Amino acid sequence: MAPKPYFPTIRDSPVSLGRRLFDGFLNLIYPEECFVCSAALAGHQDCGICSRCWDNVLSLKITPPRCTSCGLPMQSFDDTPDHLCGNCILQMPPYAGARSFGYYTAELSKIIQELKFRGRRNLVRLLGPLLTAAFFESWSRDEFDLIVPVPLHPKRRRDRGYNQSELLARSLSRQIAVPLGRFLVRVRPTLPQVGLTDSERKENVRKAFRCSRPQQISGKRILLVDDVMTTGATAASAARALLDGGALRVSVLTVARAGKG
Ligand SMILES: [Zn+2]
Ligand SMILES: [Zn+2]
Repeated sequence: MAPKPYFPTIRDSPVSLGRRLFDGFLNLIYPEECFVCSAALAGHQDCGICSRCWDNVLSLKITPPRCTSCGLPMQSFDDTPDHLCGNCILQMPPYAGARSFGYYTAELSKIIQELKFRGRRNLVRLLGPLLTAAFFESWSRDEFDLIVPVPLHPKRRRDRGYNQSELLARSLSRQIAVPLGRFLVRVRPTLPQVGLTDSERKENVRKAFRCSRPQQISGKRILLVDDVMTTGATAASAARALLDGGALRVSVLTVARAGKG
């Protein structure tokens, strides 16, 4: 028997007989495939991912040791505790700790790209609980007053129809009962960070954000939520805007994290 998934999601909730019959009927006229590996799916309630691919997603979970500040996974050959990475020793980031659920690779990157670029909004039902699991691994709900999603530029949001980070942040907000506030705006369009060097990334997102309602965030302990963290340049720029707006402290949580120390 397969081990029980350790992050229960919508996939693991009991399915009624009526729903199973309906799924069987749907599969007859409209068979569904896993969008990652193309295996046939048993149920239409699986958000388009087979159980094998989902198990692979869970196995991409980041485990310690990580950088105590930016959350970068570190290599170790024994039980090394979390410690600061070289980058954070040279320059501490403006945020008070960043954490992510898993590595941005293989199945997890595929799912995030489907959510972002292919309109599969329902994938938030799978990814939201991973964010919640990563949250409780490092923090408790009474450490935060507000959750703020990293915004898209209004033009990109219009084109896409939604902001995936906001959907994720809303899911987390419901699950941990910390209010959501869209108090950050992207004031200039930025290039996608993919393919830029570290210094180009920093320049690309410098002063890209502004706090829209400083009175709402003044003195607040904020959790900034995004889908992916790569170099941390976007998170640092957004955190700086919130701190400039009067936030007391900003921490960062993302579903996935690129890179390994
Ligand atoms: Zn699959
Ligand atoms: Zn670090």
